[in-house]
Amino acid sequence: MRAIVVGGGIGGLATARGLGLRGWEVTVLERQPSLEAAGAGLSLWPNALRALDWLGVGGPVRAAGAPITGGGLRTAAGAWLTRVTVAGPIAVHRADLHEILAEGLSVRTGAAVTDARSLDADLIVGADGIGSAVRAAYAPQIRIRDSGQVSWRSVVPASALGDDRDGGETMGPGGLRFGYVPMGPRGVYWYVAAPAPLRTTAPAEQLAELRAAFGDWHEPIPRLLAATDPGALLHHPLLDLHPVAPMRFGARVALVGDAAHAMTPNLGQGACQALEDAVTLAALVPGGRGGGSVEEALREYDGMRRPRVAMVARRSWQVGRVAGARGAVTSAMVRALARLTPASATARGAERVAAWEPPTATPALTRADGRR
Ligand SMILES: Cc1cc2nc3c(=O)[nH]c(=O)nc-3n(C[C@H](O)[C@H](O)[C@H](O)COP(=O)(O)OP(=O)(O)OC[C@H]3O[C@@H](n4cnc5c(N)ncnc54)[C@H](O)[C@@H]3O)c2cc1C
Repeated sequence: MRAIVVGGGIGGLATARGLGLRGWEVTVLERQPSLEAAGAGLSLWPNALRALDWLGVGGPVRAAGAPITGGGLRTAAGAWLTRVTVAGPIAVHRADLHEILAEGLSVRTGAAVTDARSLDADLIVGADGIGSAVRAAYAPQIRIRDSGQVSWRSVVPASALGDDRDGGETMGPGGLRFGYVPMGPRGVYWYVAAPAPLRTTAPAEQLAELRAAFGDWHEPIPRLLAATDPGALLHHPLLDLHPVAPMRFGARVALVGDAAHAMTPNLGQGACQALEDAVTLAALVPGGRGGGSVEEALREYDGMRRPRVAMVARRSWQVGRVAGARGAVTSAMVRALARLTPASATARGAERVAAWEPPTATPALTRADGRR
């Protein structure tokens, strides 16, 4: 059986790995000239780690990342409103995850797909992100929705953190949020969420704007911004797909990851859900010793995945609405909102979401003689 996976991001690489484990011959088509992943850090919750274990790469990913043990929500002055301890998630550099997933796969770079309907294989997987050409060919009605918020992200050396080991998120007036997550020796990943518009100024000017806006917030925020290299500053609008797209079309086309359900990052679940998609699809398709048709598998895949990703995307959007509310938020209001806001809501919401298990036992542990 032959599959074409369009897109060599986290979702596409994980799908290619999973199908390969099920005995499929897979080609990944990636439009970029090389597979190097831009990006900062990612939090991966236990659901994502179980998916990575299924794919046989959970060990190396854990070794490349650092456990997230705690966090919470603070005021701009540094007072803790909520503190949470969490067990299970890790923070990892996106480039490390990408490299581990890509190892040993057949990827054609510089291969932008423009006519998805002309692709020919037993299974075609659109893993081509929020602007998916595959989705556009089969579900042009699905719209990208703008949250009205933008983000900045970067990674800085761990020394900028000082004594703080936990990370967390801070909410200030005007809908501003600053979060940071230690990633062990790989440094500290920080992010800002702020009201639109998307800035078009040079990165150095944007960084100066951030340093001014967060200059009187508690440490280590000014220190993290001071340690940031403008060349490593990422700036994006926060978007999602609404409603999420169907995840299968006809007898042989599926969507995974952001192509089907790009979501705002407020629950830290976009890549985690892409990994769940990849494993679910790979587990359900016929493979190795056969069983069922691709079409049946795709129906089951859509039935399993679409309600779940719609729920996660909806919760993520709601957290962003509350946390990104503009206007002068008094500290009393912040306290009242604390139970609903990202640090605690992220932990509670994501822990519930993180209970996911792969639909079948992993083929990655099956030895050549068929024994586990
Ligand atoms: C600010 C921010 C913070 C985030 N934080 C987290 C987090 O902490 N945890 C988490 O789980 N998720 C997080 N996410 C979400 C996560 O980044 C995405 O959900 C995830 O990267 C989606 O992976 P993907 O493979 O589906 O899509 P993408 O990463 O977009 O990959 C798509 C790939 O397809 C390629 N491509 C596109 N079009 C074509 C074409 N026509 N032909 C060939 N190739 C094509 C692209 O070049 C790209 O390589 C965050 C997102 C944002 C914006």
